Amino acid sequence: MSYKNTQLLIDNQWCDAASGKTLPVENPATGLEIGRVAYAGIVDLDRALASAQKGFTLWRNTPALERSNIMRKAAVLMRERAAEIGALMTQEQGKPLAEAKGEALMSAEIIEWCAEEGRRTYGRIVPPRAMNVSAQVQKEPVGIVAAFTPWNFPINQVVRKLSAALATGCSIIVKAPEETPASPAALIQAFVDAGVPPGVISLVYGSPAEISGYLIPHPLVRKITFTGSTPVGKQLAAMAGQYMKRSTMELGGHAPVIVAADADIALALKTAGSLKFRNAGQVCISPTRFLVHNSIKTEFTKGLVAMAEKLKVADGMADGTQMGALANSRRLDAMLALTEDARAKGATVATGGERMGSVGNFFAPTVLTDLPMNADVMNTEPFGPMAAIHGFEDLDEAIAESNRLPFGLASYAFTRSLKTAHTLGQRLEVGMLWINQGGVSWAEMPFGGVKDSGYGSEGGTEILDAYINTKMVSIACV
Ligand code: NAD
Repeated sequence: MSYKNTQLLIDNQWCDAASGKTLPVENPATGLEIGRVAYAGIVDLDRALASAQKGFTLWRNTPALERSNIMRKAAVLMRERAAEIGALMTQEQGKPLAEAKGEALMSAEIIEWCAEEGRRTYGRIVPPRAMNVSAQVQKEPVGIVAAFTPWNFPINQVVRKLSAALATGCSIIVKAPEETPASPAALIQAFVDAGVPPGVISLVYGSPAEISGYLIPHPLVRKITFTGSTPVGKQLAAMAGQYMKRSTMELGGHAPVIVAADADIALALKTAGSLKFRNAGQVCISPTRFLVHNSIKTEFTKGLVAMAEKLKVADGMADGTQMGALANSRRLDAMLALTEDARAKGATVATGGERMGSVGNFFAPTVLTDLPMNADVMNTEPFGPMAAIHGFEDLDEAIAESNRLPFGLASYAFTRSLKTAHTLGQRLEVGMLWINQGGVSWAEMPFGGVKDSGYGSEGGTEILDAYINTKMVSIACV
């Protein structure tokens, strides 16, 4: 599929913004403009809102089985189109083609999971206090959802919100990322082709602050869902609170990886090590602080450095690429600044720490050691291909370090001790913990964080919770 310009979707019609305004889309591997994306203004948002209102009335009155069948068709289309859609994503986002195709394929699983769960949004009958009373608990869709999604997983971040909304009978306005607009548009095209009626899904791009500032307070919008950085999430959650809107916030992380003295080091390197560099580290559950027992720190560091140096870093479209360009130049600047800060504070750059070439946003896979606690990378989410190694002596120390930061999203541990695994399961302040494996966010497992990493879950049976209202109906027959 050749890269094309991306339009807005309103009433199942692809259209330009009323103003005709567009933004450029760049390929991060070349720095070249590859297309344009429509830039919605208030007029376009008003049209999307009116359409979403009609779509909601229609969709909430569509039987769950019918909704589920349409969603399943969209999943089939995503599987059929995964290779083409993956190529669009690689061109706009930079990740290797295999990762991009994998993301499109994974979206089919999430759609199917929600399509199935949507058929099980059971209410209940409560034993009444009088025999002429029927006491019921009913589950209803919350209404129009406004979703704001980022550029690191252009499809995955949309599909979790979109599928949960559709499965429960909500309509949704998606504000997808301007930097990676074509692949989420292709996802939404699959739903349109599968038979989702007009107004159920709208897709807009433009100024994130202007769109959220208009949609969140708007009386027609009943729920907000956002994935992105903690500072922006706090701002949007505050606005949602001010207007009493339900919200789900999937925010930043700073995942600790505890490698205990009894760990299988080769397994830790193969799984958490390679996970570090997936999507060039631009992943909210990316392993960041490798807390390694002092007795194995040298061996582990050597292994991680060797792995980082062996990675083929190139254009994501090239054969054999294992790590592509960073998605935008902001990440490149951030990596350079974190490295400089670490060096200035006495850290050792064991490998990487520099830009690769002068074209595109390529940054070398980086391993830092001897980091003081006040190094920026030990405190702020790097969101790039940067691993920080830190030694520990006893488990309490590793747990304290894991829990030190305000984030509480993902965490990893490697140990052969059941007791250590059990202790970590109880004491780590996180939303997700993987032990002796890399992190894969399977559709059937909850996905979300605690503390400054946000609230709400975008996986498992919990995925629909945030899109459902609970209504008590008690009927006395007189
Ligand atoms: P950013 O913090 O400005 O933006 C993050 C995301 O939020 C983007 O998708 C952006 O479009 C959106 N956004 C920003 N302001 C908004 C607003 N007022 N209303 C609605 N949406 C808004 O910066 P960035 O450079 O794009 O990303 C940097 C940081 O964001 C990263 O370092 C990382 O910590 C975080 N991030 C997290 C995730 C995640 O999966 N949790 C994804 C992307 C970015």
